[in-house]
Amino acid sequence: MLNTPQNDAGLLDEVKEACKDIFKCMQCGVCSGSCPSGRHTSLNIRKLVRKAAKNSNILQDEELWMCTTCYNCQERCPRNIDIVDAMLKIRAIAAHEGIMHPEHITVSELLLEYGHAVPIDEENRKRRIKLGLNELPETVHKYPEELEEVKILLDSCEFNRVVDKKDEKSGET
Ligand code: SF4
Ligand code: SF4
Repeated sequence: MLNTPQNDAGLLDEVKEACKDIFKCMQCGVCSGSCPSGRHTSLNIRKLVRKAAKNSNILQDEELWMCTTCYNCQERCPRNIDIVDAMLKIRAIAAHEGIMHPEHITVSELLLEYGHAVPIDEENRKRRIKLGLNELPETVHKYPEELEEVKILLDSCEFNRVVDKKDEKSGET
């Protein structure tokens, strides 16, 4: 379950503004046909963004969090609609309202604690070696002394406060 959204007209206007280019869409279906996530989930990014552009409140829509941001759809759109960027703006608005999908909250908390969304484990180390990669990626895994700098950066963009906000919201009744 996602956290409770706010029914705020100003917020909906922000979402609508982020999605206004969708009205240039000629309904060719290239975006949904190119979407790897759409093959396994209910995600239809064109419909989702169009719904938002028409002022529907989609902040609590689970589809918002099904996109992997691979950008297939945006790169192939013949009308050059920045459809993923629009969706990401909506996600940012939702996150600032304390609305995040549980898996995204988990990943955000890992990032805040370890400076890495996917902490490395023995299995991943072995897989990397098998693929001919260095055992550790060029991140805080390899340079743990840089973790404090990553935390300072996250703090400077108030990322921790956005993630913490979901706790405030889930505490509301
Ligand atoms: S690819 Fe672009 S023009 Fe085609 S349906 Fe998707 S958003 Fe519309
Ligand atoms: S960016 Fe998202 S919506 Fe677009 S093709 Fe990739 S998973 Fe699908």
